[in-house]
Amino acid sequence: MTSKKFSAEEMLNKIFTIMQTLYDEMRLNQSGQSTHLKVFEIFAELGRTLVGADRASFWRWDKRAHLLMTTAATGTEQIIISDKSGLVGQALAENRAILTNDPYNNPNFNAAVDKKTGYLTKSILVMPVSNCHGEIIGAYQVINKLDDDAGFDEIEDTKRLSIAAFICGMALESDMFLADSQRDKLTELKNRFGFHSDYQTKYRQATPPTSLIICDIDFFKKVNDTYGHNAGDAVLIHVAKILSTISGNAYRWGGEEFIIVLEGANISGAAFTAEQIRQAVMNSVCKFEDKEIRVTMSFGCAEINSALSIEDNIKIADARLYRAKETGRNRVVTS
Ligand code: GH3
Ligand code: MG
Ligand code: MG
Repeated sequence: MTSKKFSAEEMLNKIFTIMQTLYDEMRLNQSGQSTHLKVFEIFAELGRTLVGADRASFWRWDKRAHLLMTTAATGTEQIIISDKSGLVGQALAENRAILTNDPYNNPNFNAAVDKKTGYLTKSILVMPVSNCHGEIIGAYQVINKLDDDAGFDEIEDTKRLSIAAFICGMALESDMFLADSQRDKLTELKNRFGFHSDYQTKYRQATPPTSLIICDIDFFKKVNDTYGHNAGDAVLIHVAKILSTISGNAYRWGGEEFIIVLEGANISGAAFTAEQIRQAVMNSVCKFEDKEIRVTMSFGCAEINSALSIEDNIKIADARLYRAKETGRNRVVTS
C-alpha cells in the first residue's frame, strides 16, 4: 500500500490556491469571460483535493423530472441519470453518505459509465448536498481514493467531503435562485433582469452589429376583457413560443412586451426578423379552451450604437415601437 498524506500546511496551501482560482473565475464570470460551469468545476476540484480522490462530480437533483445531472465533473462529460439509479440515487433516497470500496460487488453501483468510458471504479463516496433549509438539492461524489489501496476512510473522508459538500450546496442554491430570478414563470422566457445580466456578460462584448427589437401585443387589454385573464396568459405563452422559435434571444420585457437581441444583425437584418415574427404571429391562432384567439404585434427596431448606453438604445427602439402603434399597429418601424 502506498500512502501519501499531505501535511496540514500542504493541504491548507492547496485549498487556498483553489479558492484563489475560484475567486478569479467568479470575477471573469461577471464579465462573460467564464461560465458558472467552470466555477462549479473548481468546486468539484475542492472536494477531490480534500479527500484525495481521482475524480469528483457534483450532481444537481431535478425533483420534478426525477433526474440527476452533473453540474460539474472532473474527467467526464455531463451525465444525466434517473434519480432512482446508482449510489447517488441511494444517497439521496436514504439521505446519508454512501461509501463502497468494492463497487462491483455492490448491487446499487451503476457500472454504465465505466462500460461506456473504459474507466475502472474502485472506490466511491457519495454525500447528499442540502440548501440552507436542509432540503436535499444534489449530491457530491468522489471516485477512486488516490494513494491508498484500501479506499476511502469512512470517518475521515466523510468529514472532509462534508466541508466541500456544504460549500457546494450554498453555491448551487444561490445559482438556482439567480437563474430563477432571471426567468419569467409564465412564458419561461428570461425576464428583464435576465436581459440585463446577458447584456453585461454576453451582448456588450459582441462584435457589431447587434440589433434590438422591442415588440408589444396590439390591443391586448381587449383579449383579457373579452376572454378573461387566463386566456390572456395563454396568448402570452403562445406569442413567447413564436418569438423564441424564430429568435433564440427573446426576453419578456414586462406585461405583453418583449425584447429580442440579434447578434450580427444590422438594422435591415432586424427589420427582416421582425417582419417574419409579425407575419407568424398574425397568421397563428392561440387555442384556449373552446376559443380561437388571434392577435397582432407592433415592432420597433434599432441597431445598437455602442457610443450610447443600453438604456438609450432601448429608448430609441421603444420610440419606434410607439410610432408603430401610432401609425396603425401590426407593423415594423426601423427609423
Ligand atoms: P396597445 O395596442 O396600445 O399595446 O394596447 P394594449 O391593450 O395592448 O395595451 P395596454 O398597455 O393598455 O394593456 C396591456 C394589458 O396587458 C394590461 C394588463 O392587464 C395586461 N397584462 C399585463 N401582464 C399580463 C399578464 O401576465 N397576463 C395577462 N393576462 N394580462 C397581462
Ligand atoms: Mg399592447
Ligand atoms: Mg404594452
